[in-house]
Amino acid sequence: MDKKKAVIVGGGFGGVKAALELQKNKKLDVILVSDNPNFEYYPGLHKLVGVSEHAVVSIPLATIFKNKNVTVILEKVMGIDGDKKTVTTSSQTISAEFIVVAVGSQTEYFGISGLKEMAFGLKSVAQAMELRAHVEEMFQKHAKADKAEAVMGLHMVVVGAGPNGTDLAGELASFGRMLAKKYAIPETMMTIDLVEGAPRVLPMMSENVSMRVMKRLQRLGVDVLCNRDLRKEEGWTVEFADMKIGAKTLVWTAGITTNELVKNIPGLILGKKNRIAVDDYLQPKKTDGSSIQNVFIVGDAADTKFSGLAQTAITDGSFVANAVQSRLANKELKKYVPQPIAYNIGVGPRWSVFVMGTFEFFGILAYAMRSLIDTRFFLSILPVGEVWKLYFKK
Ligand SMILES: Cc1cc2nc3c(=O)[nH]c(=O)nc-3n(C[C@H](O)[C@H](O)[C@H](O)COP(=O)(O)OP(=O)(O)OC[C@H]3O[C@@H](n4cnc5c(N)ncnc54)[C@H](O)[C@@H]3O)c2cc1C
Repeated sequence: MDKKKAVIVGGGFGGVKAALELQKNKKLDVILVSDNPNFEYYPGLHKLVGVSEHAVVSIPLATIFKNKNVTVILEKVMGIDGDKKTVTTSSQTISAEFIVVAVGSQTEYFGISGLKEMAFGLKSVAQAMELRAHVEEMFQKHAKADKAEAVMGLHMVVVGAGPNGTDLAGELASFGRMLAKKYAIPETMMTIDLVEGAPRVLPMMSENVSMRVMKRLQRLGVDVLCNRDLRKEEGWTVEFADMKIGAKTLVWTAGITTNELVKNIPGLILGKKNRIAVDDYLQPKKTDGSSIQNVFIVGDAADTKFSGLAQTAITDGSFVANAVQSRLANKELKKYVPQPIAYNIGVGPRWSVFVMGTFEFFGILAYAMRSLIDTRFFLSILPVGEVWKLYFKK
């Protein structure tokens, strides 16, 4: 049988979902190219910087695609030509009938002076581990330091009170308390500021959610400072309109832009946060009003209503797999409809807020629900035995 080729770029939420669905079609050769041998489960990253017992954050692509009709190539993609239907990696150019671009997003520093060089991030397992090691090192180093030095060394600033910053600040507070005990440092030496440019935390949520989350953060010992934009970071000094803070730990969670690879795809229109403008079938729009046929953009890279969320990337991956199957069968493609989303945002250990439309609930039950959502997702990409190993194998 003359097989067609589908190349998926990116082994994250959207790419993995698309590959798992597409490989069921025996008329296709499915190739997934990723610069990371692992699928990283970003919603679990905060736990790496906290006191939580066990965090599942990384699954080898080889495990996900074991016994599946998918060839995994571990290389960085340098360019994609939609019209020529080619994907160029560091060592080869692959031609394909279908291309799925699922390259996600990266941190945006908005040109703020000193930020890129000094700030920690939370956008990968490596960054989360680096931050954890740094925080522990700060406590270790300042256990016997003089007071002035210790308060600066144990001052942590998290910029951005969106879901990531809020969750992280809560985890850091608990982790910091644990380390204070371990290194016999009074807890009062430690400061955690969560700084936000908008008037309230989680500004995209209702005022009720912001207020409940704010109270939870305060209970955990996090200082919340709103209406403040970061101006610059210089020599461990973080500067806002009304103050300069001496802090040895700054975590930047306030900016995101599409993966730099999109700059190397000719003829695209970029929208908000440099996301790629797409037509009704998630194909990239061109400046002349047409679209690039049989190239599909999914997840964070696509300029869709709910882009920027894992659940959207998963929906997109599934949609695109259906679109490719329809093309192969010469059937009419269904139009893409953004799916309603729910938020489950953790704030420190074992406490979450769940929001779906106007329905909101908080606390340990919401956290339990989050754990169920995580498990359900792992079961959607792995056999039960592998999920069991993820949770219980040391
Ligand atoms: C800390 C954190 C917590 C989050 N929590 C939640 C949450 O609770 N709920 C939620 O819905 N969303 C959450 N998100 C957002 C969610 O993780 C993203 O929306 C989602 O990962 C987007 O999926 P994607 O497939 O578009 O990209 P990604 O999952 O980022 O995957 C992109 C893939 O492309 C690969 N890649 C990139 N460039 C190249 C290249 N040049 N060549 C080859 N491969 C490349 C990467 O290695 C990666 O495998 C969170 C994000 C973060 C950072």
